Amino acid sequence: MTKGGPKVLVIEDEPSQLELLSYNLDVEGYDVYKAETGEEGLLILHEVEIDLILLDWMLPQTSGLEICRQIKRGKFTKSIPIIMLTARGEEDDKVRGLDTGANDYIVKPYSIKELLARVRAGLRNSKGGLGVNMLTYEQITMDLTRHVVSIGDKVIHLGPLEFKLLRILIEAPARVFSRDQLLERVWSNSLEVETRTVDVHIGRLRKQLNAVANAEYIRTVRGFGYSLDKA
Ligand code: CA
Repeated sequence: MTKGGPKVLVIEDEPSQLELLSYNLDVEGYDVYKAETGEEGLLILHEVEIDLILLDWMLPQTSGLEICRQIKRGKFTKSIPIIMLTARGEEDDKVRGLDTGANDYIVKPYSIKELLARVRAGLRNSKGGLGVNMLTYEQITMDLTRHVVSIGDKVIHLGPLEFKLLRILIEAPARVFSRDQLLERVWSNSLEVETRTVDVHIGRLRKQLNAVANAEYIRTVRGFGYSLDKA
């Protein structure tokens, strides 16, 4: 299911690493595409307009280095930022990676927090990061590329679920979403999650918006659901 966030392609042959990265990127609101080989990654690049690539250095078959070269030679792919994932002790390789056009590299084992910061920076510096991915309603602005929410000139820091909720609401202001619809779109119908959870996270989102805005933005429709609708 696409969420309309920046599209990130992860090319990594270790399944556990691939899953960990994908999970964390997904939680941050990115649309994640997964490939276990460079060849698979190139196929995805033919079909999807990817915004950023995380590319493992050591891949079976064609190496990450060669894949990087190929991407940077492609007319339609050369401007996509690439972050190389390298193992420790590949100092020379890092330099070679940057020579081949990789925009950044991160050394394994990396912290997810650092990796996500690099991804944000990569998107910000790329052509796609020039503020084209903005959603607004009244005073609220969501910059999807930079993953920043602000009210007027004040930035608010939302948790990943609150971010997803706000994003759904802001895409259709005044439309009322049922709890089940929100559950389906934010939690993908995860069986362990109850509709009450939606209320909890809407509550948090409302609290954070109200702390900054001098207006009530989220309307409760009793027994049904919620909408973004300035009172
Ligand atoms: Ca590998």
